[in-house]
Amino acid sequence: METNPTQKHKDTPVGKESALKIAIVGGGPRGLYSLERLLHYARQIAPQRIRVCLYDTSGQPGAGTVYSPKQPAWLLMNYSSKNIDAWVRDDMGSEDPMSPESIRHDLENYPSLVQWLDKHHPEMADPDQAIPRAIAGEYFRDCYAQVLREKPENVSFVLKSATVKDVVRQKDRWAVMTVEESQEYDEVLLSLGHGANVGSANPEEWFHPHSYESRVGMSQNRTKHLVNSTYPVAAQLSEEKVQPGSKVAIRGFGLTFIDACLSLTEGRGGKFKQLKTGEWEYEMSGHEPEIIYPYSRTGRPMLAKPDARKVTRSPGLSTIWKRGKEQLRKLESSEYGLDFNSQMKPILVETAAEALRVQQGEKTKEGITSTFRYDEPSSDSMLSWLAGWSGGTVFPVDIWNRLTDSYRTATGLRPADEAWAIAETWRELYPALVERISYGGLSEASWELFQLYAAEMERIAFGPPAESVGKLLALIKSGLVELRFLTGSPVAFVKQHPLESQSELILRNDQSQIIVDSIVNAVLPASQHATEGSLLYNLLQRKTLSRFRNTGGIAVDHETNALNEMEHAVSGLSVVGRPTEGCVLGNDTLSRTLHPESDRWAKRLIKSFTQTNSNMQMKLKNEELLKEHSDTLINQA
Ligand SMILES: Cc1cc2nc3c(=O)[nH]c(=O)nc-3n(C[C@H](O)[C@H](O)[C@H](O)COP(=O)(O)OP(=O)(O)OC[C@H]3O[C@@H](n4cnc5c(N)ncnc54)[C@H](O)[C@@H]3O)c2cc1C
Repeated sequence: METNPTQKHKDTPVGKESALKIAIVGGGPRGLYSLERLLHYARQIAPQRIRVCLYDTSGQPGAGTVYSPKQPAWLLMNYSSKNIDAWVRDDMGSEDPMSPESIRHDLENYPSLVQWLDKHHPEMADPDQAIPRAIAGEYFRDCYAQVLREKPENVSFVLKSATVKDVVRQKDRWAVMTVEESQEYDEVLLSLGHGANVGSANPEEWFHPHSYESRVGMSQNRTKHLVNSTYPVAAQLSEEKVQPGSKVAIRGFGLTFIDACLSLTEGRGGKFKQLKTGEWEYEMSGHEPEIIYPYSRTGRPMLAKPDARKVTRSPGLSTIWKRGKEQLRKLESSEYGLDFNSQMKPILVETAAEALRVQQGEKTKEGITSTFRYDEPSSDSMLSWLAGWSGGTVFPVDIWNRLTDSYRTATGLRPADEAWAIAETWRELYPALVERISYGGLSEASWELFQLYAAEMERIAFGPPAESVGKLLALIKSGLVELRFLTGSPVAFVKQHPLESQSELILRNDQSQIIVDSIVNAVLPASQHATEGSLLYNLLQRKTLSRFRNTGGIAVDHETNALNEMEHAVSGLSVVGRPTEGCVLGNDTLSRTLHPESDRWAKRLIKSFTQTNSNMQMKLKNEELLKEHSDTLINQA
């Protein structure tokens, strides 16, 4: 391991303590959490001095790009407000000054999202509601302002609204480089989130085949477009790029597809209305595309998350979740790590079966208990549901049925089923999975199988709020969204017209082929992706950072230190969040309890800094004593 980075303040004047210089790159929610923790611990070591610089491209520190307060209101959070709290509230009253204890019981100054909504947007303060991401962004922006308001005096802080292009080791410090300048720091934290690969959407990376033009020419007086990324929706899905009355293909059928769809409909003045039956209806504005064709590799949709206001959960479920988590936590690991298929999956499917048995005893608000079934829920019935979900040929009608069933179950119009049980189990047991799988807990041999399972769970358990699925169903019903190209191995490509000098955008699958006017990419780059020339790419190329075994995630240790290829800590460089996905599980979340890495990072830095300073003081004192002693000896002589 390299030496401690905080033992290197060569420019420290003799007899004086140095200031620790820290850069945080990335000012999204996780950059905010890290800053908050750093300032919290820094206060406790005053008067020792800390200098902090936050670099952020978004121009909206705290909120970052994902929760930009400037985005439109139809872009919703994918989970309910009660899950979001920007403040740490654990271990209150702890006597250890370095515990995560904080003064956060003052809810006026440190509100959770729901408490903040109560004051600023009371009409949205329902804890079970999925609010617009822009509103969540306002909350994070306010939290950032609060963190700076209470900045301790021993901390100096600078915000730089700039993109960091590179971070380079220079002697015993790190040079953080933007286009305009280079500054040196003792410690750098990368908290890049989606910014690690945003802007990477190059048609070559997603379009088939590799020949393409971003503006392909005119046909029927329409400009044909390849739209490389869905966000920001106002610019990417403008009426110029996706014209009213045009045919548009959208690559992907996940959360980003829903955002794209709502932007092309509700965002164009269309109106959704909820009927008494609970279903939604769509009223056109006339500015929508004529038709939207989603296409995706698997055709499997994302299922609706249950609306807690409409689905009564059996009180017996909490015991089941507790037991499931305990079972996962107690699993014995071999020297190679845990095996997902033989050790973890059986616990997940048995827990799901038990949960469904218990839940079926419960009524929904509409009084529905269960549909008639021949068999009791069991591990086998869960496994056979999963096999049916991911296997076999999918037809548009299957997709419609899956979406409809999930919407109706999520809104209490239909009893709980296997999909509900498997999804609830994944959500509830997820913290135990994160604990056991992160930092190499899973054997390398079972990683691939786990990833396949996790990818399906992403669709089954981490889908959109029920309302968004209800709206999507309304669009399908109105004929605006057509499911035909979600099956039969779809591909999209540019074809040169044989007679004209123009080219055409083609969407084709095993059954049919159509010409479309634009194709929108609604698939986000994978968390492992690093765009050529980006900060992450540069650090990987120079082998400053490495990938964690076969997971693809950036390698870090439990204390957030970046690890090199030998799995040794890289002195003074730490990474948190999405780029570490795989090494650390389940990063793409706002949850502070699931991921306390920001806390670990800040505590480690401050502890080692104080340790270094006190060692330095001790050394100076010893030197003084030694000098005094030798002076006395000389004088005596
Ligand atoms: C469309 C979308 C919807 C989502 N919805 C939810 C949800 O409902 N609930 C949920 O829990 N999670 C959701 N997520 C996951 C989301 O990524 C996390 O909740 C959260 O954004 C993670 O915060 P972060 O700070 O790690 O990353 P980000 O929010 O991505 O913030 C990273 C910040 O770093 C900046 N940055 C990056 N690189 C640089 C650089 N080189 N120089 C300077 N600045 C840089 C970026 O501009 C950005 O401001 C969603 C993600 C997306 C993309």
